[in-house]
Amino acid sequence: MGGNIKVALYDLGPLKASENKYVILGQQANENIYNLLKKQNDISVEKINTLAAETLKHYNVLILSTIHRLSDKDAGSADLGIQSVDYVRSLLNFVDSGGCVILGHDCVGFRHIWGNFQVFPMICTGQGLEESKKLVLSDKAHPLAAGLPETFEHSYTDHITIRPGEKTKIIFKDVNGAPAVVAGELSRGTVIGLGYSMGLYCKDKNHYTGELPEAEARLLLNAVRWAGVKEKYEVPQVNTDTSLLKQITTYNEQKKNESLSKYTNLPQPKFTEADMWLYPFWRIMLGNKKDTPVLDILENEQYLAQSVKNVKTMGFTGILTYAQSYTMYYPSKLYPQDIDPKMPKRFEILYNEAKKNGLKIKVIFCAWRRSADTWAKGVKNISKSDMDRLAKGEKEKDIFKDEYRRGGWVCPDHPDNQKMFINIIRETLEMYPDISEVHFDYVRYKDGYDTSCYCDYSLKQKAEFSKTHPGLSESEIAAEFSKQTLMNFFTECHNQVKKISPQIKTTTYTITPTAPKWVFGYPFDYHAKYVSRYLNADWPIENTENYTTQYVGWLKELNPKGVFQPMISSYDYKTGERLYLEFQILSHTFDKLSVKNKLVQFYDYAYLLKDTDGSLHDDMARGISKALGGTWK
Ligand SMILES: [Zn+2]
Repeated sequence: MGGNIKVALYDLGPLKASENKYVILGQQANENIYNLLKKQNDISVEKINTLAAETLKHYNVLILSTIHRLSDKDAGSADLGIQSVDYVRSLLNFVDSGGCVILGHDCVGFRHIWGNFQVFPMICTGQGLEESKKLVLSDKAHPLAAGLPETFEHSYTDHITIRPGEKTKIIFKDVNGAPAVVAGELSRGTVIGLGYSMGLYCKDKNHYTGELPEAEARLLLNAVRWAGVKEKYEVPQVNTDTSLLKQITTYNEQKKNESLSKYTNLPQPKFTEADMWLYPFWRIMLGNKKDTPVLDILENEQYLAQSVKNVKTMGFTGILTYAQSYTMYYPSKLYPQDIDPKMPKRFEILYNEAKKNGLKIKVIFCAWRRSADTWAKGVKNISKSDMDRLAKGEKEKDIFKDEYRRGGWVCPDHPDNQKMFINIIRETLEMYPDISEVHFDYVRYKDGYDTSCYCDYSLKQKAEFSKTHPGLSESEIAAEFSKQTLMNFFTECHNQVKKISPQIKTTTYTITPTAPKWVFGYPFDYHAKYVSRYLNADWPIENTENYTTQYVGWLKELNPKGVFQPMISSYDYKTGERLYLEFQILSHTFDKLSVKNKLVQFYDYAYLLKDTDGSLHDDMARGISKALGGTWK
């Protein structure tokens, strides 16, 4: 069999054993799509593992849905001298030639590789992650909507909202009015953006494999039958490069400039507190792997005093550093076997220098991370994929080879692990009475906020839990159990700190932007998230304003006494002017929202380092100093 409409489904091929669970789920979702299309008489479907123009030209429709990375074939390999596929150019050539691209979830232009360069900005750009399922029909007459109800719920828990462009037709919106299903014509072809993840979760919500829910199936078939019958042309790549690619590059550039020009004549920023993330443990954070000589300087004890002075000169009012991660960075008497011998001195230098310079000292604790020895002896955090691999007979020492070397995550559910963590906090605060803020990092399970643990202890606890929560699927039990465990435990942590001293502030960082909304219910005094990060299309400058507005609102709703603690960062090199502008936008947004306690953090000192001698990028330091009222010259 094989119909006239030729559909290519992008598939990563055989996955690695250690693959990210979302990549595995994405592949299962695509398998469900494949099975649906295979049953249609007028459609023939094939899986392809490359986006090369030579391959795409044989098809009418390309489906690119819930894919986090390029296939090994397309990613190439610098080591083996295999070139990567320039997928932006080949996708544009495909559409230029009359092809139809159907994009699902992140692939609409959000995160991972899809956020780096917007390929179809005239039709769809990923805007944000929305945790609701209901979609509302907005263009009844559109061929994509044929036979669909006024509203339906997609099956996966979230969707990506879409920023429309000048050629966009909006077919479904979500409950907040944000576009979620769009289509548009571009050159001779068609682009269709579905914000939800087609086929991830099936009709039977307990299963990842099976039939697509009815509305999702109908919408997909409508899309294929509508756009897949267009005439195809043979368009040389060079023609696409000089027309469509050029147009889109200019369009993206223009959008960026429009964004920047929205923010002119803003007043001088003002903050009540400004902290610098500063830690001499960078190499450990990077798994000791990265060859970045510039970081050597942070391990130099003589330099640490200078770094604190630099922070002060730039106008910061505090530093934030680690007290404990996999190992102890302070000289713990309770857990001397876990002390990393190099760290206590560095920790104490920072503590003392901060005091000397009149800076607040704030410390970070990583709740479930333990040294290799303690981890190996303890009750471990077993993720679902760890459990599956163990069940398949893989060796523990292969699955956890990093953990046996570096340390690992212990089970967040187990009382022994919880007790040890509270002991660590208590001990640190008693030894260092001038700590003004406790930052709880990794307030989740090792693979997420809703994934729970699959060790024997946790499985037993969840079985009990499910008895009192009838009617929930396995994943819903995991999510609800995770939420309750984490919420109860970190509430206890917050209370413990307040018992030691009500003056000490508590805070946390949660993953930006994908942590579920409920994490804003943690009872901490502050809640930190990024409001600026890279310079790519995923992080337009409006994010500083939009994320701040959203997160201030969520805190007000779920933890009304909590104060938002935004993080500005420079993962990509940013000029001093750009950084100053980001601080301006943040301060201005706070004023618009009537936020009185205007906090800010910069992530982090290592990104300012220019040279192995510890000198900073002067331009960046000046931009920050100007924003914070510092005296950097
Ligand atoms: Zn467990």
